[in-house]
Parts: sequence; C-alpha cells; structure tokens
Amino acid sequence: MKNQLLSELGQSLVAGSLSDQQVLADTGRQPPIKILPNANIIKIGGQSFIDRGRAAVFPLIEEIVENLGRHEIIIGTGGGSRARHAYSVGIDLGLPTGVLSVLGTFVSMQNARMIHYLLAKHGIPFIEPIQFAQLPLYLAERGAVIFFGMPPYTFWHENPSVGRIPPHRTDTGAYLVSEVFGTKSTIFVKDEQGLYTADPKKDRSAKFIKRISVAELKELDLEDLVVERPVLSMMENAKNSKSIQIINGMEKGNLTRALAGEEVGTVIYAD
Ligand code: ADP
Ligand code: MG
Repeated sequence: MKNQLLSELGQSLVAGSLSDQQVLADTGRQPPIKILPNANIIKIGGQSFIDRGRAAVFPLIEEIVENLGRHEIIIGTGGGSRARHAYSVGIDLGLPTGVLSVLGTFVSMQNARMIHYLLAKHGIPFIEPIQFAQLPLYLAERGAVIFFGMPPYTFWHENPSVGRIPPHRTDTGAYLVSEVFGTKSTIFVKDEQGLYTADPKKDRSAKFIKRISVAELKELDLEDLVVERPVLSMMENAKNSKSIQIINGMEKGNLTRALAGEEVGTVIYAD
C-alpha cells in the first residue's frame, strides 16, 4: 500500500511495532463511539438474587415489564450457588480454570433461560454470544434482551493469581458489555442496599457507602466486595462505562428509579 494513502496513525501502525508504547498511545487519541447509548445493562445476581426464587424474582420481573418501552434494557444473569457447587466438584476432580469457566457459563445460562421464559410472553429474546450481532435489532424491536453474564472466554480463561476459580465471571461479563456498547447505565441488582465497608451479612457494624471512586475503594482495601474485583480494575481503563450502580432489587421501585437516572444504592465511579 502506498504510504501516502495512509493516515499518520496508519503509517505508524503498519510500519511500527504493536509493542511500541508510543504507537499504542497514538491509537487512543480518539475516544470510541457509543454504540448503544440509550441502552441500560441490568445484571441480576445469581447467588444474591435468582437463587432466592419466586419471592425475589417475580416482583423484579414485574418491575422490568413496567419499564419495557420506557427504557432499553440488556439483562445479564449471574450463576450463584449452582455455579459454586460445580466449581467445587470440578476442583475436586482436578479440572483447570478454563474448564471451570465452561461450567460457570452453563449455570449462568440456566438462569438466563429461566428469566427468559418469565419474560417470553413479552417477546423478549434470550441470546448467546454468537447472536450479539442481532442484539441491536432485538433491542429496537422489543426493547429488551437477555444474555448470560459469563464472558465467553471458556477454555481461554486466564488463571487467577490465587487458586483456581475464574475471576472474570458474570459481573465482569455484564460490565464488559456496557463498556463495549457505551450504554447509558450499568446496574447490578443484588440483595443489599449496595456497597458496605464489609459484608453486611457477616458484620452488623458494616457502614453503607453511597458513592465512591475506584481509587478510593482500592485504597480502603476491603476484605470483601459486592462486585467482582476485575470490574474495578477494568473501570480504571474505561473509555465509556465509567460508573456502575449496585442496587437492592428486593426493594420494589429501586430498579425503576435507577433506570430513571436516580442514584439509588451505591455508585462506584472511575476518576
Ligand atoms: P451475585 O449474586 O451478583 O453473584 P454476589 O453474591 O457475588 O452477587 O455478591 C453480592 C453479595 O456480596 C451480597 O449479597 C453481600 O452479602 C456480599 N458482600 C460481600 N462484601 C460486601 C460489601 N463490602 N458490601 C456489600 N455486600 C458485600
Ligand atoms: Mg458474584
């Protein structure tokens, strides 16, 4: 290709090394576009929510239905207790992280299927990663879509620094979808008001945190968190999805308020 046909960036990419920090820095000069700026990601917790069954899930489904047509909604699902059980058996059988990731994927798919059938009469489709190209159409046509939260790394999942459990699970998968599509919001629906200084189920003196930056949160070095830690690391490099919200889905109205842009629960933001 004639060099004059290439932009300055094109020339340095074609001729330069992709390990060169300066070349790489040049590729970040323009921000990425927001592909689905009106969409909202709602991640429904596995352990914290769907595992609670009808008492938790039915009112949330009702609230999602109330918001259909008002907000574009991309629903991701967690894995929960069944995934943890599968991990424990898998680990006992000597299976590696990549295989555990496969197991977790199928459990979050079970949950996505269940949510799907509860919303089926409203024409809301369940999609697998291979169908993500159709996601914008479904969103435009039906206003919502359901996917399983696990990022589809499966066998290709990297090992964690400690132990064997795949660190990139359903919170991470949901977050990554929000980042790549540049969605309006990323809402994690769980069973607590949001982030506390400790797990409120184990520590009654845990204090609620309304709003915190990723840097401040890292500084606090909390023993346990309400979202997967890789979400926070990814937020440090976020181009689009610079804030997430954790809400208590057990309280009716919280999801509607969060979709309306209100700060319900905890907001974690990247500086
Ligand atoms: P999910 O169901 O989405 O996978 P998890 O069960 O992994 O969610 O995480 C949510 C749970 O994290 C809450 O139910 C809460 O008991 C626990 N948790 C641990 N540490 C914290 C914390 N610092 N603040 C709030 N909740 C916490
Ligand atoms: Mg979890």
